Amino acid sequence: MEETKFSDYLCTTKFFSALLLPLPGAWQEKDITDQMTHQPKQIAVIGSTGSIGTQTLDIVAQRPDRFKVTVLAAGSNVDRLIEQAMAHRPALAIIADTNKYARLRDALAPLGIETASGAQALADAMERPDFSTVVTATVGYSGLEPTIRAIRASKDIALANKETLVVAGELITRMLLTSESSILPVDSEHSAIYQCLVGEDPATVDRLIITASGGPFRNLSESDLEKVTVADALRHPNWSMGNKITIDSATMINKAFEIIEARWLFDIPAKRIEAVVHPQSIVHSMVQFCDGAVKAQLGVPDMHLPIRYALGDATRTDAPERRLTVADYANLTFHRPDTRRFPCLNFAYQALEEGGTTACTINAANEVAVAAFLAGKLRFLDIHTVISATLSATPFVSRPGYDDYVATNSEARRIALAEVKRLAL
Ligand code: NDP
Ligand code: MG
Repeated sequence: MEETKFSDYLCTTKFFSALLLPLPGAWQEKDITDQMTHQPKQIAVIGSTGSIGTQTLDIVAQRPDRFKVTVLAAGSNVDRLIEQAMAHRPALAIIADTNKYARLRDALAPLGIETASGAQALADAMERPDFSTVVTATVGYSGLEPTIRAIRASKDIALANKETLVVAGELITRMLLTSESSILPVDSEHSAIYQCLVGEDPATVDRLIITASGGPFRNLSESDLEKVTVADALRHPNWSMGNKITIDSATMINKAFEIIEARWLFDIPAKRIEAVVHPQSIVHSMVQFCDGAVKAQLGVPDMHLPIRYALGDATRTDAPERRLTVADYANLTFHRPDTRRFPCLNFAYQALEEGGTTACTINAANEVAVAAFLAGKLRFLDIHTVISATLSATPFVSRPGYDDYVATNSEARRIALAEVKRLAL
């Protein structure tokens, strides 16, 4: 796979300019402008009804002087979207599920809030002039097109939707090189790495160490894993998240996705990114430098901190949430992951080695397999089987453009669905 040159990337994106400069980077100029005009930063939240979306709106509600929501978008939870729109009074509310549109329109028209529905309306909204930053909090492949449209429209992106970088990290990276847009990570591990890198010379980074809780099945044997239920898998020990990412954490494919996400965000080769199991989820990730020093960012497992940091353009502001008391943690432990019990972790290295559409195929097959598992139609261990089988059968494109990702995503879904049917309970 063709590698973007680290130094080129660092010098040309706003994302990294903050790491190179001890003073605030380019995007902070916008914040200064906002402060001068006393206008709150205008934001779009796509996936507003989910776990990240609702926590984002908590932060907006806490600081109306700093943030104003102008676009809200959700999948199908129309009642929650209506509540959010009534509270935040955006200019536009979008529901992806067209069947729910009439209810949204009827509820919000009396308030003068514009409404729309469908995936295309959501993507088109990314070009509106009335916001500067979009929080991508949708789940799965649905985040890709809006993110691309937002980059084209020079919006800044607070990126929660890691699947966008898993599916098309190479394309997104290339687009950022010639765009005014910048990405700040919301994912806690990547936010931690970002925070560790501030003030450092990127050339001195030796490796990124991404922590993983190990999920609810960390201590189960292979034979125990054969029997786990959906309810077991949804019981994450440390984090409260949406269902899909909770299952991804249980299989540890979430960590594979985060390795891929880190490769693109920080432009570092896969062999210098490692995952380490840290069951307490207090150390959110680490960076080791060429002199051997390791920097880490710690905090309680609460996404408000990385969301607030990304929304505030990598600046720190007061936070009301419970904070870490380090003396409460006598034992912070770390160990290597067991890829025999959690083979999905290996998909990261396979995807980054092969490049092209491999990660797109893995993501599509995983989405199909996780949905089938959640619907009680697939065994937990067969999530890996479905992904492997889909990878073998889906045509590989070595230098994909956007249309290749779209085609690969639908072909891989078709193959994965057939595989789910073959294995169905
Ligand atoms: P949730 O399932 O809680 O929320 C997903 C959101 O996306 C909901 O608002 C949902 O709407 C919306 N949505 C679903 N499908 C579509 C669609 N086709 N078009 C538009 N909107 C859609 O997920 P999370 O908040 O947990 O995760 C969101 C993203 O953030 C994921 O990519 C995840 O990997 C990432 N992330 C999440 C973390 C967490 O702590 N939750 C941590 C780090 C990353 P509705 O509910 O109305 O159908
Ligand atoms: Mg994470």
